[in-house]
Amino acid sequence: NYRCRSAFKLLEIDDKHKVLHPGLSVIDCGAAPGAWSQVAVQRVNALGTDPNAPVGFVLGVDLLHISPLEGAVFLPNADITDPVTLKKIQELLPTERADVILSDMAPNATGIRELDHQKLINLCLSLLDLSQSILRPRGTILCKFWDGREAHLLQNRLTEHFQDVRTIKPQSSRKESAEIYYLAKLYNHGVKHQKHR
Ligand code: SAM
Repeated sequence: NYRCRSAFKLLEIDDKHKVLHPGLSVIDCGAAPGAWSQVAVQRVNALGTDPNAPVGFVLGVDLLHISPLEGAVFLPNADITDPVTLKKIQELLPTERADVILSDMAPNATGIRELDHQKLINLCLSLLDLSQSILRPRGTILCKFWDGREAHLLQNRLTEHFQDVRTIKPQSSRKESAEIYYLAKLYNHGVKHQKHR
């Protein structure tokens, strides 16, 4: 039983693109109410349910409270854009860096599409700053954004830092919704790749 239907989006993306597997260390940004964390706990074997597979780790972060979940560590009342949050994440991570950063974050929607779009792009951009300190080389980011004029800025920043950046629109996401995901794999720490065309 998942806490929220959003679980099915992550399951679908992961089935197809193989983001999570046993033993990985995952940070779930915007984790409340916790459905993505539930999926992550299963897929990285955070509870050691499969005794023959490596045991992973899941840390969920959100502005809101999150009910406890076996196999996950939560950091509630935490703003991902706040430097204090970065410190706390580093304290809670068992490994120096995470293998995967998931973000299903969404700002409180104003209803003004352009503004909501910009706010979410900015949130995603702050994930890139965070990555510098907590994502391991060759790591992965999966982040949700609402489509709009500034999506290309985020895509450009991602392609500067990741070797493989894809745009994903899950089937289980409502057709009329503007939500899309970027899946960025193979993080190269700060190294900028000059694109040859
Ligand atoms: N993936 C979650 C699940 O499956 O249960 C649902 C996430 S919900 C769509 C978006 C969440 O992003 C909200 O709980 C919101 O509080 C959180 N959020 C928005 N801005 C944030 C920020 N700056 N820092 C941390 N969390 C944030």
